[in-house]
Amino acid sequence: MSEKTIKAQATGRNGQIDFDINVDHERITDIKVTKSSETPGIFKQVVGKLKENIIENQSFDVDAISGASIMTKAMLDSGKKALEESGVSVASHLKKAEHKNVTLEVDVAVIGSGMAGLMAACRALAMGKTVLLIEKNGYLGGATILNGSNVVGTGSKVSAKLFGNKAQDDSPALLAKDISRECRGTNYPVLSNLLVNNIGKAVDFITEFADLTYQKAETQTIEHTVDRQIEMPSESSFELISKVSEAFLKKGGQILRETRVEKLNKNEQGQLVSLVAESKYETVKVNFKSLVMAAGGWGARDYREHKTDIPYYGPMTSMGDYFDFAKNMNLVSRNLDWYKIYPHGLEVEPGIAKLTTYSTKEASDMGAIFVNTSGKRIVNESAPYTHFRDAIATQKDKLAFVVMDERTWNKFYELLLKYGFTADEIQGFFNLEGKKSPILVKGDLQTVAQKAGINCANLQKTLANYAEAVKSGIDTEFGRPAQYMHEYVGDIYYVIEQKLRFCTTLGGYETNNHMQLLDKEFEPISNFYAAGEIIGGANGHDSMPSMMNSWSYASGFVAGTEAADNANSCQTSTAPSVDMDAATGATHK
Ligand SMILES: Cc1cc2nc3c(=O)[nH]c(=O)nc-3n(C[C@H](O)[C@H](O)[C@H](O)COP(=O)(O)OP(=O)(O)OC[C@H]3O[C@@H](n4cnc5c(N)ncnc54)[C@H](O)[C@@H]3O)c2cc1C
Repeated sequence: MSEKTIKAQATGRNGQIDFDINVDHERITDIKVTKSSETPGIFKQVVGKLKENIIENQSFDVDAISGASIMTKAMLDSGKKALEESGVSVASHLKKAEHKNVTLEVDVAVIGSGMAGLMAACRALAMGKTVLLIEKNGYLGGATILNGSNVVGTGSKVSAKLFGNKAQDDSPALLAKDISRECRGTNYPVLSNLLVNNIGKAVDFITEFADLTYQKAETQTIEHTVDRQIEMPSESSFELISKVSEAFLKKGGQILRETRVEKLNKNEQGQLVSLVAESKYETVKVNFKSLVMAAGGWGARDYREHKTDIPYYGPMTSMGDYFDFAKNMNLVSRNLDWYKIYPHGLEVEPGIAKLTTYSTKEASDMGAIFVNTSGKRIVNESAPYTHFRDAIATQKDKLAFVVMDERTWNKFYELLLKYGFTADEIQGFFNLEGKKSPILVKGDLQTVAQKAGINCANLQKTLANYAEAVKSGIDTEFGRPAQYMHEYVGDIYYVIEQKLRFCTTLGGYETNNHMQLLDKEFEPISNFYAAGEIIGGANGHDSMPSMMNSWSYASGFVAGTEAADNANSCQTSTAPSVDMDAATGATHK
């Protein structure tokens, strides 16, 4: 048999994945994805690995990729089926891997490949240390990879270049003031000061280390009193994570993927000396001088344990594994119920949200109003999102609706398709006829009100009052500026629900100003550092846009510096630990 292309179709997390399987003389030679709506930064990384495994083993019976198992398992199953149905035979040589025990020795071990972990790892490497980064997922980047890469450049040479003289309007003190205002003084000054005084150094360090280019962020959000937000040219953290991890590997750092840290070991003197991590075919013991824990937030855990009724929209891998594996370290934590809450959510599955931010913003610019179940407006629709968020939070059912005419809906729909929704998915919402979330209904005013469960008489009155406000240019109820008030056109209405959503946790473990974790006696643990979302408090109970990324950069930079310094002066013995049996047959490096 000569060359043949077999078409396969899988159902991923976000919709259909189409791919071609190329076969030549009983050999799978290539897998080419032709359509997908999966998160690009994750998809690109895992499909590359999946393809490599399939071709190496000439089989679709290989393992799915950790952290992306839904989409990769779906591709493996449908690829196998498509191959069988095509009648094409392939000479498979699936290797059965034996389980191994491996021991590694490094100066600095880092848990987690989000920006906090990568920053710490790069910094320690640049300071001449041997560094191993351990990541449980089959892809790098954690929650970081899902964001737009925006960060503040306060005090950096990068900002001085991008903003010119205007960069001088900014300062660490001004940034500290903004942080404190936004979270109404709930921030912990030691950590906020560490953030504002190190963000510039961190930005400049990583720019040079990974040869990065930043641009002024396309959107300079109003929460910041001056322009200071910068981002990758692609406006995606995929670019950031790819370039930084490539530079780290090129300069001699090591990364273990699909390897989950499950245990921390102390020696007989009670010092932290090693960790144990499990991958599919290896138990890895890592002896280190310093450990940096940058294992992200735990929003998915709180969603699974129903700790909050706010729908979650972050990665399912933010599971807070450390609450289990670091128990023996008696770490002290704070504000574990602080979440970064946004409005603009659709509850697409029970407890799971997807965001409509871009669509909703456009709808409010085009004059749409936001009402509650009583059919009454709840906010100045053109005010910052925090007003809308707080207005939803005060509704008994924590629910609001955007009411649109067809003209506004068309734009809303276009932006839904651009930002994460598929046409089939949206049709599915309409098919629910308002009987359950996510509510999305279309029709005349009476129909939409009845289907969405909104008081129709009040809604009619609200729209009539709004029409008056549009005419006079004065919104007596909420003071919405005239430029954002527009007349409704036609008699077809679209109504879509708006719920609160969260993904980022804002509390966490406590550290001192060296990013050293504290035990329950509030004593720092000499060689145990942490960085990023796992550490709570720098931004208080409400973070400004870009500030969680900024925290990852600054805290990662300090943790990496301190971990490297500690390794230089380290007296910690790496003798066998008390509770870990020597990993027999281990290879030493
Ligand atoms: C959709 C979305 C949009 C966002 N938008 C913004 C924004 O615009 N601006 C902003 O400032 N912030 C934003 N955030 C928040 C910000 O992305 C995070 O706070 C930040 O990226 C956290 O970085 P981190 O390195 O601490 O954690 P992460 O990036 O989550 O990395 C932690 C890593 O640790 C790994 N890990 C966990 N446990 C283990 C274990 N046992 N063994 C091995 N590895 C482990 C995880 O798999 C993960 O890869 C957003 C978050 C999300 C989800």
